[in-house]
Amino acid sequence: MATQKILIIEDELKIARFLELELTYEGYTVDQAHDGRAGLQKILDGSFDLILLDIMLPSMNGMEVLRKLRQTSDIPVIMLTAKDEIMDKVTGLDMGADDYVTKPFAIEELLARIRVVFKKKASKSINIKILQINKLKLDLEKYTVSFADEPIILTKREFGLLRYLLENKNIVLSRDTLLETVWGYDYLGDTNVVDVYISYLRTKIDDKFNKKFLYTVRGVGYLIKDE
Ligand code: CA
Repeated sequence: MATQKILIIEDELKIARFLELELTYEGYTVDQAHDGRAGLQKILDGSFDLILLDIMLPSMNGMEVLRKLRQTSDIPVIMLTAKDEIMDKVTGLDMGADDYVTKPFAIEELLARIRVVFKKKASKSINIKILQINKLKLDLEKYTVSFADEPIILTKREFGLLRYLLENKNIVLSRDTLLETVWGYDYLGDTNVVDVYISYLRTKIDDKFNKKFLYTVRGVGYLIKDE
């Protein structure tokens, strides 16, 4: 198996150097950038498998790098956040970061997060490329959703939720399971977020196309099935 390439975008040189050392020791191929603009350029030039992205960066901050990156790429991003940047964490996950660690972090924790992200990525590429129920189609390669070939525009989180529901169609999934799989095991927010996102999907799919796919099982959770 070819080694995984990781890009560290971090302006604190001590942290960047430490991370490079540890990650190289773990067998990853590592590169560094020390400001946002240079980081984005490296991402666009290189073929990285994962980005470690600091938020407070010179020239272009991490959120901006993430926003620009997500316009064209689904490459996994783990954000490195400071303790007082909780708002940024939430926005970052909404904007499509895959995970985050809070500085100062234990290297073992970061390595574990990296392994999880790579594992998810690997299982993605083995799986079938199109998930379908009735005329509702989710294309994992093109990252698109449609009903009877009419495109449905979803946010990354809505897409993730719909994807997981479709992968487990006809099975009731609890809020906790959905929260852990779609939002991550360390999600700190309210579990109501699942209900909120289910309602977004209902608006964009069930209501829009006058079909019933998303079912609530009271006191248990949600499932997707053909009406
Ligand atoms: Ca910084």
